[in-house]
Parts: sequence; structure tokens; C-alpha cells
Amino acid sequence: MLSEADPAEANAHADAWRKRDLAVLWHPCTQMREHPDTLPLVPVRRGRGVWLEGVDGRNYLDAVSSWWVNLFGHANPRIAAAIARQAGELEHVILAGFSHEPGMALAEELLALAPREADRPPLTKVFYADNGSAGVEVALKMAFHHFRNRGVEGRTRFIALHNGYHGETLGALSMGDIPLYRKIYAPLLLQPTFVPSPDAWDALPGEGAEACALRAAEALADVLAVQGGETCALILEPLVQCAGGMRMYHPAYLRRARELCDEHGVLLIADEIAVGFGRTGTMFACEQAGIQPDFLCLSKGLTGGFLPLAAVLTREEIYESFLDDSRERAFLHSHSYTGNPLACAAARETLAIFRDEPVLERNRATAARMAELAAPLAGHPNVAEVRQTGMILAIELVAERTSRKAFAPEQRAGLRAYRHAIAHGVVLRPLGDVLYWMPPYCIEDDALQQLATVTRGAIDAAVHVES
Ligand SMILES: *Cc1c(COP(=O)(O)O)cnc(C)c1O
Repeated sequence: MLSEADPAEANAHADAWRKRDLAVLWHPCTQMREHPDTLPLVPVRRGRGVWLEGVDGRNYLDAVSSWWVNLFGHANPRIAAAIARQAGELEHVILAGFSHEPGMALAEELLALAPREADRPPLTKVFYADNGSAGVEVALKMAFHHFRNRGVEGRTRFIALHNGYHGETLGALSMGDIPLYRKIYAPLLLQPTFVPSPDAWDALPGEGAEACALRAAEALADVLAVQGGETCALILEPLVQCAGGMRMYHPAYLRRARELCDEHGVLLIADEIAVGFGRTGTMFACEQAGIQPDFLCLSKGLTGGFLPLAAVLTREEIYESFLDDSRERAFLHSHSYTGNPLACAAARETLAIFRDEPVLERNRATAARMAELAAPLAGHPNVAEVRQTGMILAIELVAERTSRKAFAPEQRAGLRAYRHAIAHGVVLRPLGDVLYWMPPYCIEDDALQQLATVTRGAIDAAVHVES
């Protein structure tokens, strides 16, 4: 056992670990060339609450909830115990032809929580997948297949938003519009029609977020006027385009998009994989627009950050179109681990925490405190904007504040910020030059203060140019 008192020994242990890791592991979303020197790999031996404990004996504040999945802290005892209980009963069973309590009960609980519009038939069916991208694939295939089942052959197209992100598998990647991820694979991908993002960052001088959103909605109306009849679905991330740099928009867009989809018989897929489960201030982001989608895709926070699981919720009418004597009409999509009981048990316990504790109410206070602590950063000459939606706060770094001129890519502003933060015990993983806070909901005030202080330093480190 490592002696925590001896920093030299701890560092040597961490170095040996890094060597061993890099000999065999290919890490996600990483230019592996940057390891081990440019990017310090952080070996973690334990997690507790918002803290990750490194094998170097240091603690790291997980300000990004480990890619937005963690809600109630690492190694949350309630969720850990629920998984252990379930593992002792039934770890997994094929979900085709079989049923289990966690899968059934989770579906009931999710449907009861789902966004609802008074005049619209509610979401009544749940299909499970193993991760967010797979959930998006399910929704895309179901939307297309639904029209086929109804005898409609011509609806083969999708509409997606500029700067959107829906995952990395080829179908999901097709719907995304982030060149860094998409461009190289473009020859392999579906070609949705991309419409302007309602992103408030793009507001014209004096325009305001709502007018900006409605202007984007008019562009959607124009596209639907031309190809509405050939389109099966519109896919979007409600309120925050997370991977696209935590860009935020006014809910008016969602209301108008919902109306336009109805007008043209186009299905609406709400990808709440990142924004669901309280991230934006409400349980689901769609609630802030008062809309109900035809497909609701959930993952990430669904299991509190413990296990991969996705759920796709849809309406009875869509489900019914798949019912027939032929297998051709059926949704013959499956993943080996569909509806895994351990993951479902983790998700049920996560929802139980929402029921037992005033999570959203507490988050309102935490979000207000985040705003307060970030406010002074807005005055920094290299900060173009500090924006926030609920428990997501983003800081847009620029080379020049008034013109919003971006940093040259060679400056590696985001990387410098990352390195500074890690060196000071905070995990900030910028999206390009956008720093953001998306902490586990259990973050406390001293940690928030540390986060603000280190962020300030990270901004200075990002903009500092070595001669
Ligand atoms: C992360 C994410 C996905 C993909 O989920 P994975 O589990 O990483 O495949 C899809 N959509 C949105 C909005 C996401 O943020």
C-alpha cells in the first residue's frame, strides 16, 4: 500500500501507472501523441462525492461530472448499494421474451416523469439501449420505420441543428454538426438538412435571445415548407447544445419547432441525454418550453453516472404502427445488454434520490451561487460571455473581447486552461476555448469557491502567451 505521506513515492507510483496505461490503452477523444507530456494523464484510485483521489495522493474536483454523467457524487452509497443488491439477485437476462422488475419499474417511473402537454397523447413506451449514441440510433430508426409502417415511403430525411451533437456512432454522428468530430467521416454519413441554431450567442446587435431563437425558427419553417413532406424527424438538444460549446438558447424555439413539426407531420426527437435529470433547472429541459416531444432520448445522468444505459420514450401511436403479423414491421433492433438490470437498478435509485430529497430546489441555490462566483470572471478582458442555464455555466474565452475574435488554434488556450486546472486540483475539460462548470449536484460551497479561484487562474494561464 502506498504511503500517502510520501509525495515522491506517490509521484513515482503515478508515473509507473501512466507508463503501464499508455502501453495498452487507447483513450477516448484524445490525440494520444499528447500523452504523456502535453496532457497529464490522471490515474484515479477512488472517487468520493465531487472528489477524485489520484494515485499521486492528490484530490481532484470533478467540475465536469465525468463527462456530464454524475449527479449525486462519485461512489454515491445509495446507488452503489442498489447495484450491489441487484447484482446478488439478477445481473442480467435477455430482454427479448423476458421481463424483470428493474426494467419494468424504471419504465413506469420514467413515463410518469416525462414531459407532458395537456392536448397531446402522452409518452407511454420505453425502449432501452446501452448508451446515448445507441439511444439516438433507436429514435432515428424508429421515426423512419414508423412512416414505412404507415405506408409512407417518401419520408426519408432528417433535419438537425447547426452546432448540434448527438453521439459518435455513424447515424448519431450524421446528425451532429461539429466539424472536429464529423468532417473526416462525412463520406460515410447520412445527410440531414442542417438548419440554423437558435444559439443566443448568434443574436444580432440588440436582438435578444428570444428574437434570435424565433429567427432561427423561421429558417426551420422555410426548410419545412420545402421538404416537410420528405422529412421523418427533427432532432435537437433542448435549451443547451452541450458538446457544441455549451451554447444556450431561448425556449421559444422549442415551442415554435414543436408547432412546425405538427404542421408538417414531422416527428420531434428531443435529445436530453446531456440536459435531462435536472441539469437545466427542471427535470427535463422540454418542460421549460412546455412541450412534449415524440421521442425523448435519455442517458448520461440516468444512472447517476454509474452504468451505461439509455432510454428512448415514445408515444402509443408510434408503438402501435409496429404491430402486425409480419416481423418486417417489428422493431428488430437490439443490443446484447438491452435493459440491463444493474443499470436499471442504478437508474431507479437515482430517481428515488430525486423523490426523497429536494434536489431541484437545492440546485437552484447552488446555481445561484455558481452565478455569483462566476460574475467577476465576466469582467476579464478575455472573457466574451459568462452564460448559465441551471447547473451548467460556461465561460467563453476569446483573444479580443469586443470583436469576439477567437484565439488562434496554435495558442491552445483551452489546453492551457486544462493543464493549469489539473495542476491545481480541478478537472475542467474545456470544449475548445469554452470553459464550463457542470458539477455533480452535491457540490458544496468550499468546493465551488475553489472552483472559481482555480478557474480564474486557468483563464490567465490560457491567455498567457509565451514569448
Ligand atoms: C453525450 C451525448 C450523446 C451520446 O451519448 P454517449 O453515451 O456518449 O454515446 C448524445 N447526445 C447528446 C446531447 C450528448 O451530450
